[in-house]
Amino acid sequence: MMNSVWRPYCQMKTAPPPMKIVATEGCHLIGQNGECWIDGMASWWSACHGYNHPQVRDAVTEQLHRMPHVMFGGITHEPAERLANRLAELAPDDLNHVFFSDSGSVAVEVAMKMAIGHWRRHDRPGRTRFLAFDNAYHGDTTGAMSLCDPQRSMHARYSGAITQQYHVALPRDATTEAVLERTLAAHSDSIAGVFVEPLVQGAGGMRFHDVITLRRIRDACKRHDVLLIADEIATGFQRTGKMFAVDHTADLQSPVVPDILCLGKALTAGTMSMAVTIARSHVFDSFYSDDPGAALMHGPTFMANPLACSAANASLDLFEGNPYDVEKIETILRERLSVLRDIDNVADVRCFGAIGVVQFRDPPKMQMVQDELVRRGVWLRPFGDCLYTTPPLCINEDALHRICDAMIEATRATMPRSDSPMCNQLR
Ligand SMILES: *Cc1c(COP(=O)(O)O)cnc(C)c1O
Repeated sequence: MMNSVWRPYCQMKTAPPPMKIVATEGCHLIGQNGECWIDGMASWWSACHGYNHPQVRDAVTEQLHRMPHVMFGGITHEPAERLANRLAELAPDDLNHVFFSDSGSVAVEVAMKMAIGHWRRHDRPGRTRFLAFDNAYHGDTTGAMSLCDPQRSMHARYSGAITQQYHVALPRDATTEAVLERTLAAHSDSIAGVFVEPLVQGAGGMRFHDVITLRRIRDACKRHDVLLIADEIATGFQRTGKMFAVDHTADLQSPVVPDILCLGKALTAGTMSMAVTIARSHVFDSFYSDDPGAALMHGPTFMANPLACSAANASLDLFEGNPYDVEKIETILRERLSVLRDIDNVADVRCFGAIGVVQFRDPPKMQMVQDELVRRGVWLRPFGDCLYTTPPLCINEDALHRICDAMIEATRATMPRSDSPMCNQLR
């Protein structure tokens, strides 16, 4: 049979065929023959409440019957208005101006355009470039790609075709802080803003940093009067235990409030593609004028899709009604996965919030690891030198232990085993 699908991040010639999934339920993926895998990835961090949550499903179904979509230029609707107000309420300080788009990468592009436009308004038209950090990942579109780590990222082969940005190490200590400081000082004419994934760098290597590092970044931005842009597309919505990762700085004497905040992934509880870029008032005000030409010229066809907005509103209802015990998830991941530290080939085991990471020295063939996991009834997608889990936040202890079992056994396994612990029934 012809197969016309060109798959993501995939060598089409050599990759084994993908798993065919026909249904989802709770924390599970269900295969063609009724096989059932615990989804330890929550579909790339997105399915925070698990799949097919009745409240989300009902909200989307109701919206589907009323109005699946309407253009957002010149038109508005209640689900979008309500969602924007709620996000503004949740986001710290005066992060009150919510721009909708259709994917995380586009939300990052919009943030870049906001920052460039902001400085144009303040007579700094030369400020068109950005600083980002080693191991950063900010998306796959060309602008977002330019912010990713130029050497280590999967976008290295596009170097030369994309804008060159400034990349430095995260300021974890005095030496790296000095490099950040020097770079911002040397290029203050051209740097519009600093992009950071607060506390957790995702697809660029699953690395964590602390609130002090984040505060150093904020302080450097303040000293050089450049915008701080927090990409919380992965960390948003309680993945790290707080609603947003920057909320971990709330106890500091001066909490970190980014000038622009990007959200995506779990925004619609994993049901639909949507992202937002939220600006503080001083950024919004740079576009607020009697001059039509000063407006933010952006508007994806499907922005603020009502189905996606209703899913997001239902998701926020769930967060309000039932905050997750992410600390418990972190404790279990930490306790269980730490046994892997004894293995020579394991360079590091780290856990933060509902994120558990095993990093290898000499990475085994990740396809082999994945096959081992799948055999054990768990879906994870290791990449680079990391095996990691970002389970649905609603996961029960049992399922979480099964993910840990599978990660431990798959790491230890030197040869495939034939036992097949797939669960046979749903739930
Ligand atoms: C996933 C991700 C993006 C890109 O989002 P898409 O919806 O895949 O375009 C950007 N930044 C971070 C930190 C992400 O994790």
